Amino acid sequence: MGIKNKYAEIYIDIKAFDIDHAFDYRIPPGLCSDIDTGKIVLVPFQNRIEVGFIVGVKNKSEIGNNQLKDIIKVIGSRPVFNFKKLELIRWISKYYVQPLGSVIKFFLPPGGKYKKAIIHRRIGLKFKDYVSLNRDKYNLAKDDINWKINSSRKKIIDYLMLSGEVPKEKLIRDTGSGYSSLAGLAGRGIVSVVKKRQNRDFRYEYQGGGSLKKNIILNSYQKNAVGAIDNYIQKEAYHKFLIQGVAGSGKTEIYMAACKKILEKKKKAIILTPEISLTPQLYSRFEREFGPRVCVYHSNMSEAERYERWLDIWENKFDIIIGTRSAIFAPVSSLGIIILDEEHDPSYKEGTLVRYNTQDVAIKLGEILDIPVVMGSATPSVVTRYRAEKEKDFTLLNVPIKARSTSFLEMEAVDLRRINRLKEDTVITGKLFTAIREELEKDNKVIIFLNRRGYSNFVICSKCGSVPKCSACDLSFNYHSDRRRLVCHHCGREQNYTGKCPVCGADSIFLYGTGIQRVQSKLQDRFKGIPILRMDSDVTSKRKSHQEILKKFISPGKSILIGTQMVAKGLDIGDVTLVGVINCDSMLALPDYHMNERVYQLITQVSGRAGREKKKGRVIIQTYNPDSSVMKNILEMDYESFYRQELANRKELSYPPFSNLVNIIVSGKKEEKVKKNIEQLFAEISRVIKIGNSILGPAPAPFHKVNLFYRWHIMIKSGDIEDLGKKLAVILKRFKKFGENKIIVDVDPVWIL
Ligand code: ADP
Ligand code: ZN
Repeated sequence: MGIKNKYAEIYIDIKAFDIDHAFDYRIPPGLCSDIDTGKIVLVPFQNRIEVGFIVGVKNKSEIGNNQLKDIIKVIGSRPVFNFKKLELIRWISKYYVQPLGSVIKFFLPPGGKYKKAIIHRRIGLKFKDYVSLNRDKYNLAKDDINWKINSSRKKIIDYLMLSGEVPKEKLIRDTGSGYSSLAGLAGRGIVSVVKKRQNRDFRYEYQGGGSLKKNIILNSYQKNAVGAIDNYIQKEAYHKFLIQGVAGSGKTEIYMAACKKILEKKKKAIILTPEISLTPQLYSRFEREFGPRVCVYHSNMSEAERYERWLDIWENKFDIIIGTRSAIFAPVSSLGIIILDEEHDPSYKEGTLVRYNTQDVAIKLGEILDIPVVMGSATPSVVTRYRAEKEKDFTLLNVPIKARSTSFLEMEAVDLRRINRLKEDTVITGKLFTAIREELEKDNKVIIFLNRRGYSNFVICSKCGSVPKCSACDLSFNYHSDRRRLVCHHCGREQNYTGKCPVCGADSIFLYGTGIQRVQSKLQDRFKGIPILRMDSDVTSKRKSHQEILKKFISPGKSILIGTQMVAKGLDIGDVTLVGVINCDSMLALPDYHMNERVYQLITQVSGRAGREKKKGRVIIQTYNPDSSVMKNILEMDYESFYRQELANRKELSYPPFSNLVNIIVSGKKEEKVKKNIEQLFAEISRVIKIGNSILGPAPAPFHKVNLFYRWHIMIKSGDIEDLGKKLAVILKRFKKFGENKIIVDVDPVWIL
């Protein structure tokens, strides 16, 4: 930095809305050469010393020189972000209406350790001594030493001659020599001992050797896709791609082929996957292809592991980084491509304070760095698919066929309306039971899928399957039994509940989520002696059990796996021939406009678990709504019709992609206060934001009470999200100080529950 920059703009590391701007500090002449954007500093702030981040330098300040304070100290020798990353940080902060300080966090070494760790680099790291022989010194000294008395030293030297550099402990162990012998040699400079940073035992450490590379010849669809992407890799230019291809169509092979091109250009790649459970599979495929330059980076590693990995990536030890959403912030230099697998997955949404969508952050980063961004899915999100059609710098690449197997799926529905509830079980119907028995008799495996988001507060007609909906929002009413009223949890409209279906006049029933234990015990009664495994978040919260359950399920012979959303993703098991879907209606009825899309994606994904190899796959879906258009599209495996229909629905009520939504949730322990707050907020928003937006609410959130907290929300549909964001930021700055209630701002929510 030139000597003329006398001032630095600095963000203070405090999460508070009212100090959400940069402060000017004087650069003392002694620190001048150390100051740079992206560096961490210590500064005086309100009678304390705080950590700050330099976001700019300049030679003039509006603030009088006598009011300015000096930077105390620069921490670390390298900046943790550069001006391009800063551009991304600024964008995230503005777009998602969050303090810049909260966004910077994503870019720092993990675990908040930077305060200590960057000052004393060794904290949290493991070091190990390595010994090597200095041959020159040895040759000079060897004649002066009486090796007979020093036989222990001789052993060390012989060992090092053969082995080269070795860890000290290993050397001592293998030679049986003492530390004093080693120290003697080191003292004369004959051997040198150096400290090297050790990685902890990573769960995904490069194993080497392993299985051989597959020699795959890409088919014409794959070649076409790789060619299109490579075009932009060669041009070093920004472009978006959506690869749409069913499970097994060879998307991962396309990603790998693109990565090869990236490595040839001496650049790096980030590959994102929505779930931690999917990283090992992806890692092992990439590792087989690219060897030790591939690493995994995600939030379920221990803090120390993540910190080490972060440093490794920073120090350019890896070329391909595979991870979940936080990996988009990994300190990768010369990034050449960003790839997002399973683009449609709602797990790409960060659920904490800064509610970013990884897809949009990736796209923005791609734009800033001028590099291609590739997304892939069998069932693209409606928004992404629409953008791929509309936007000039977005290309849709179709891969319509499976790469290897020719197996096919047989989809059928069981119409729950026609089940005689007095004679037949509605949890597992006769048809599903029979099918399970048939497949088990053939020594095949069965997966039973249950929806996790069980939701009981709505009514459904047992005769025609219809669910009463709010006419304004086209979303199901929530039943409030205390007042016997139907309430729309979006706009707050209410309606009397008569107990009769408004469509056909028959009696309505309440639909309760079916518990996974109940399904398990029913199956255990019927199929004695057959392994019946269960995978849901209760069982799999322990780190390893997920893998153990899978192992049991995969072992040869018949078995049944019952599970929630987790079983839908990424399992690749040969012998599964039947997938039963128990309760998708409770999901379809959730008052969230995303639900059609989620159900389509989920059932398609879980169906893909059947018939992966040569065997035919069967899928049986139990539903009250076999005639609904989503169900029909699912049964016919017709994404295109689903997409067109869904797009038309959304257009009518201007849901995304025809608008952007912002969901503002106020929550707190005292409902009266929550209501009062949200009404004030609503009044303020309605006063400031008028044109081009429609404001819904305030209404109780669909999940109205969570963990003792009452939740109310306001939804804004906007045609100009950036302008809305600016205005909201101004309003929220005032409301942030709103007593004990919490305000969450969710821009482009993926759930509105
Ligand atoms: P996706 O990522 O779309 O689910 P994958 O890339 O995992 O598909 O491919 C499914 C399987 O088919 C993998 O075992 C993969 O190695 C194999 N495969 C993909 N493309 C080809 C090809 N062109 N020739 C032979 N096998 C292929
Ligand atoms: Zn409504």
